[in-house]
Amino acid sequence: MIYLLVEDIMFAEGVDTGDSSSETTSAQSKSSRFTSEFEPIMCLGEGAFGRVFEVKEKLTECHFAVKIVLCKENNKALREVKALTNLHHHNIVRYYNYWMEDSGYQQDGAEDSCSSSQSSAENSSGKYLYIQMEVCDLKTLQVWIDEKNMQNEKESLYSSKRREESLTIATQIVSGVEYIHSKKLIHRDLKPANIMFGRDGEVKIGDFGLVTAENDDDAENLLERTVYKGTPSYMAPEQKNQKTYDRKIDIFALGLICFELFWKISTSHERQTIWGDVRGQKFPKGFSGHFSEEYKIIKPMLCFKPNDRPEAEELKRALEKCTRRNNTRASRTV
Ligand code: ATP
Ligand code: MG
Repeated sequence: MIYLLVEDIMFAEGVDTGDSSSETTSAQSKSSRFTSEFEPIMCLGEGAFGRVFEVKEKLTECHFAVKIVLCKENNKALREVKALTNLHHHNIVRYYNYWMEDSGYQQDGAEDSCSSSQSSAENSSGKYLYIQMEVCDLKTLQVWIDEKNMQNEKESLYSSKRREESLTIATQIVSGVEYIHSKKLIHRDLKPANIMFGRDGEVKIGDFGLVTAENDDDAENLLERTVYKGTPSYMAPEQKNQKTYDRKIDIFALGLICFELFWKISTSHERQTIWGDVRGQKFPKGFSGHFSEEYKIIKPMLCFKPNDRPEAEELKRALEKCTRRNNTRASRTV
């Protein structure tokens, strides 16, 4: 795999830059903080707003994740670093550093899913923001859910192992959200692809690209990132209407994530039929019976009226209680 800067690609492809600009080009490449301080290992992911690479810091040989985001005039991308700088919690991805560069690093090679390239025309309108953070496992919560849904053991619809793991994961996500809300912030983009696992296996909430202060009525930003390709919508009803909203939009998204953690959905067709119902608090047959305690916790999270949804703090307590009961039940059956 070959790693190149945007300018290198233009040069390598024979774009006529003229003698003087090719000198500038190589000077820019050399001055890239990213390539001089880090050795890219692999592309970890690609989202609507950026690419994320696993890198090795040359000096310390420590591994990090670096997210590269095109930063246009209004600097909205900076919201992510501004928020992360002040967040220190074991269920939130740890932030280390950020800097700006004129070029956006990209890799050339079709060996992974991040091989598409950004056009150089895109670059003219902005700089690139590099965000250095802790590197998480390649397997996001989305992958975890997909894998569980693909397991076809007989009892897997009500698998006690999945239930136990889901309770632990749900409690950790809620713990991170409780902390975010305690800082008077709203994440606004909670979904399984934005939830990762640290190398220690603990949940790490990531992608703070849409984070906002609770009193910041910034509907314009919301519009930028509300289209989810191929994934069900996690947006609360009031978020779609673009009226005023508060931290309870995160609780609605969390309700949907919790449901997905526990309930096995085998096909995309099944998902399509179930999803709309669950968003309206109508759960599949068998859910309330088998997951009775979880149902009591998840259902209010999906209330249409934000004020009727519980706070993250209450949810955390309820989930911890549920875990204790589940453990007692499990120990009795051994
Ligand atoms: P989108 O707008 O599509 O939600 P994005 O462009 O804002 O995404 P992120 O969600 O932050 O970018 O990252 C995209 C993907 O990269 C994640 O889904 C995850 O797979 C991977 N990723 C992000 N941060 C890390 C990290 N710290 N460690 C490991 N992988 C990561
Ligand atoms: Mg994302």
